[in-house]
Amino acid sequence: MPRETLVCLAAAFAETTRLAARCAIYASQAAREGDPSARQLFAAAAASLNVQARRYGRLLRGTVAGTDTNRRMLIETEIPALQSLLAQCRQWAGDAEWKSAREAFAHADTVAAQLESLRRQLVRPAAATELLVCQICGHIASGSAPEACPVCGAVAGKFKPVGPASAL
Ligand SMILES: [Zn+2]
Repeated sequence: MPRETLVCLAAAFAETTRLAARCAIYASQAAREGDPSARQLFAAAAASLNVQARRYGRLLRGTVAGTDTNRRMLIETEIPALQSLLAQCRQWAGDAEWKSAREAFAHADTVAAQLESLRRQLVRPAAATELLVCQICGHIASGSAPEACPVCGAVAGKFKPVGPASAL
């Protein structure tokens, strides 16, 4: 497949996924405002965009490498790229003195850094550890939910299990 097509597919996938997520948020807002026809329009747009995103995703799936390469790509290239973007975002949020945005970027950076130790933990065979994700900041806990999230302080009830490795 030509490289340009791959780049276009990846960009279309990213943008379509992003817009689908926004439309779902718009639908919730319309529901809160008691506007059912707007809710339906946004929900239909979200569903339609998700279908299109899945289609791009299926086309891209054939271009995904093996798990060893994917693990290396995520840890050595993709996460550091995200962290450098987050560093710029934090700087901007700091300048704008928008505390909650700055906090969101800082939490995301902490969680991104956590993936390296998680990887080391998960390459060992027979890791039957349950993983749980904080629904506020994305922190990943193993075993059971902590009393309070070490990154954002959320209560244990905010952690959602990923499911055991054996069940995937
Ligand atoms: Zn958290």
